[in-house]
Order: sequence, then structure tokens, then C-alpha cells
Amino acid sequence: MKVTAPEVPTVHSLHEICSAVRQANCGHCWQVPGKPCTLEGDHVARFGRAMRRGLITGPDLIAVLQVLDAFTNTTIVRDVPDGAQ
Ligand SMILES: [Zn+2]
Repeated sequence: MKVTAPEVPTVHSLHEICSAVRQANCGHCWQVPGKPCTLEGDHVARFGRAMRRGLITGPDLIAVLQVLDAFTNTTIVRDVPDGAQ
């Protein structure tokens, strides 16, 4: 069955979101674009910056944050390779 491209933006995978977020620098630790904040993942502060820059969408940000029980700007969002979720 052929599937046409959806008209509304869909939420990307966590790995895609994390990759997009890394195009921004981090507002918490000021990691430079292209490098993750830590070996485990990236700070929540960086996701907010990425959304304001249009690198990720609002629904993308919500999808990331809603899986965290509680978070601050210093919380690490763990990157998960596609297929491992
Ligand atoms: Zn950071």
C-alpha cells in the first residue's frame, strides 16, 4: 500500500529529535553545535533552544518531555538509537 506524505507534522523519533537538537548549542553547558552535551545525552535546556530556532517542532519537544517524570534544564535526555525503543 502506498502511503502519501502526511500534511501535518509528525513527531520524529527520539534519535531524530536528539540529532536535530545538536544543531543548536546548549543553553545550560554551552556545548557547541554538533556535539552531545554528555555521553548519555543532552540537557533539556538544549531542546528548548532547538525548538525556538525551529530545529524541532513543539510536538517533538512535548514528546520528549512527557516521558520524563520530572525535569529541569539540567536534566539529561538520553539519546536512543532508532529501533531500540
Ligand atoms: Zn548541555
